[in-house]
Amino acid sequence: MLSGTHINIAGIVQGVGFRPFVYELANRYDLKGWVRNTSSGVEIEIHGKQVDLDAFINTLRDSPPPLARIDLITSEDRAYCKLSRFEIIESQPDPTAFVPVSPDIGICPDCLRELFDPSDRRYRYPFINCTNCGPRFTIIRDVPYDRPKTTMSKFRMCPDCQAEYDDPRNRRFHAQPVACHECGPQLSLLVDDRTIANRDNAIQIARSMILDGKIVAIKGIGGFHLACNPYDAGAVARLRARKLRSNKPFALMASDLGIIQKHAIVSPVAEMILRSREKPVVLIDRSTNSELDQAIAPGQSTLGFMLPYTPLHHLLLKAEAPFPDILVMTSANLSEEPIAYRDEDARTRLSPLADGILTHDRDINIRTDDSVSQYFMDLPYPVRRSRGYAPNPIQLPSDVGEILATGAELKNTFCLSRGSYGFVSHHIGDLENHETYEAFSEGIKHYERLFRIEPKILACDLHPDYLSTRYALKRAEEEQLPLFQIQHHHAHLAACIADNKYYSDQPVIGLCYDGTGYGTDGTIWGGEVLVGNYASFVRMYHLEPFLLPGSELAIRNPVRIALSLLWQFGLDWDESLPPVIATSNEERLALRTQLEKKLNSPITTSMGRLFDAISALIGVCQFTTYEAQAAVELQTIADPDEIGSYDINLSDDQIDIAPLVGGIYTDLVNGVSPAALSARFHNTLAEISLKVCQTASTTYDTQVVALSGGVWQNKLLLERTYQKLMQSGLQPLIHRQVPTNDGGISLGQLMIAAKLAKGM
Ligand code: ZN
Ligand code: ZN
Ligand code: FE
Repeated sequence: MLSGTHINIAGIVQGVGFRPFVYELANRYDLKGWVRNTSSGVEIEIHGKQVDLDAFINTLRDSPPPLARIDLITSEDRAYCKLSRFEIIESQPDPTAFVPVSPDIGICPDCLRELFDPSDRRYRYPFINCTNCGPRFTIIRDVPYDRPKTTMSKFRMCPDCQAEYDDPRNRRFHAQPVACHECGPQLSLLVDDRTIANRDNAIQIARSMILDGKIVAIKGIGGFHLACNPYDAGAVARLRARKLRSNKPFALMASDLGIIQKHAIVSPVAEMILRSREKPVVLIDRSTNSELDQAIAPGQSTLGFMLPYTPLHHLLLKAEAPFPDILVMTSANLSEEPIAYRDEDARTRLSPLADGILTHDRDINIRTDDSVSQYFMDLPYPVRRSRGYAPNPIQLPSDVGEILATGAELKNTFCLSRGSYGFVSHHIGDLENHETYEAFSEGIKHYERLFRIEPKILACDLHPDYLSTRYALKRAEEEQLPLFQIQHHHAHLAACIADNKYYSDQPVIGLCYDGTGYGTDGTIWGGEVLVGNYASFVRMYHLEPFLLPGSELAIRNPVRIALSLLWQFGLDWDESLPPVIATSNEERLALRTQLEKKLNSPITTSMGRLFDAISALIGVCQFTTYEAQAAVELQTIADPDEIGSYDINLSDDQIDIAPLVGGIYTDLVNGVSPAALSARFHNTLAEISLKVCQTASTTYDTQVVALSGGVWQNKLLLERTYQKLMQSGLQPLIHRQVPTNDGGISLGQLMIAAKLAKGM
């Protein structure tokens, strides 16, 4: 039987080789008709035998091209037309056109094979790509996604590249960044602001510099990395000194999976994430026989590994010994500044950091850091969602319209919505300096332009001083838009349930554990047990409040919080205690006065700070040089076989911490090992979590528990708690698409604002 079908497809279907795929498929089933891009995706008309039409649609649905993401297929029957061929026809320009843009994708197997094939015309070309791989989001200036609107516009295609670009049967049909040795971007190596080598020679010299212990800045997809030889302790130490980064771990890039297996225990899920086309840094348990220097990741039981994702990375790492099979690849910035991504910027900012700069003339339009992932229960558990993932939209529970949520202060992301798409931005960073703030406000403008979004509703944090809050307040006033200021931990709860596609209005329990969030009473919250939904919440329990003597100073020096807790519970500052040993008599005298008079000592219920305090109390970490250091080191030393725990007590709406601190104190004085103490501390928190959930579950008749907040990056605590909740019939939800830390806050804010706006 002959008939026709008209098909509409929504999703990520442009710039991912979708039309050539459709063209091939139509020819395979001997169907006639056409395909074109539209404002919302792709439109297809096919005519032929009914059985072939069905097979065509099934194949399209079941095995689309690798980078495509089909969100919706609709089809309508048409009367059969006798057509002579199948063709790709021009799309009609539409000023309100809106289609998701593909993230940047690691080099595909076909391009990788060509890269090392001496007979291929792109042999060793560092910018080889096709419709299945290569840069996307980072080179797009505007939509529709066409070469003139990318940073490739300045390169005129040679006839060979043009022919591939124009041929619907070619893998490079309409691959916007297509290029070759003849016509495309080229490498150069700068030393002392002078170009000393070009093309392949630049790679060879950069490599010999690294082998000599030098630090080389390398331009990647979303910014520069600083690279050095991880087996060279001197080079690693120099890199730490220059970056002013004394302890924070460095990411590593290994030439292949086999190399990573020599240094870390690569589980099947870790392998799956490492090999995924997004190519994030994956935090993997270090194996005891790894000969990598401890200085790569001091005090940590994990190493952050990634596989090469650009052709240049492959060219660099595919080398004979003695060139290292692993490189340190850390973001090219000074301490907490944003990563450098523009060439001028790299030349000025990176000269003091790098001995050479391996760069190229394909501009990066928008900075994106490497993504970072953990895994839990055989699935990815994101830590930083950036390159490779952004700007892929998160599917929202319903059509929420156009909203902007500006996120939190640290690990900022913002989120813009259109329809039922939530565009959670790439990682912006800590909004503490001018440059990051610029990246934040320019990023918002860029997303609004790319996805044609004009926010009608705004959402931000409740904290009056966050730059993201001020930005939202200013815009609300200038554009006369409704603004919802959302409590930080309520946003965590909402982010976690949205992440899990939870659509119901039924309340859930939120175990919201993090370092800092502004509470509705103006104090610093962070150990919060909430019960609520998108619309509202109650604070059912919180940690017993304690003082942070010196505020910011206490956050950097956990020793102060440890002494504060001892003081609060009337426990002696005994000479033998690690926090006492770590401080002078004068310091402690001043601290005692500060505590007694409550001078610059805000109160907090923060779980993150409790971790800091215990870490200091048992002698693990008294002073920190990066965020969460004390907590990470505390987790690292825990004895996994220890099952002991301390008494727990809930009074009214408070989780008492006196029994916990008192118990650790007694054990410490009695000489119990730090490894056992740390494990008992974790076990106690898991038990407390279970107990509060059981009470909340009975009171509010709900079984669902959302685990959100940076503290849940602690996999020991997560494992223990998750198990207990499951065993008692509760239903824990954890983050899977956006980070559990403040990188996920914007999604939660957006969902809450959408709900509140409906009720207006
Ligand atoms: Zn490719
Ligand atoms: Zn060319
Ligand atoms: Fe938080």
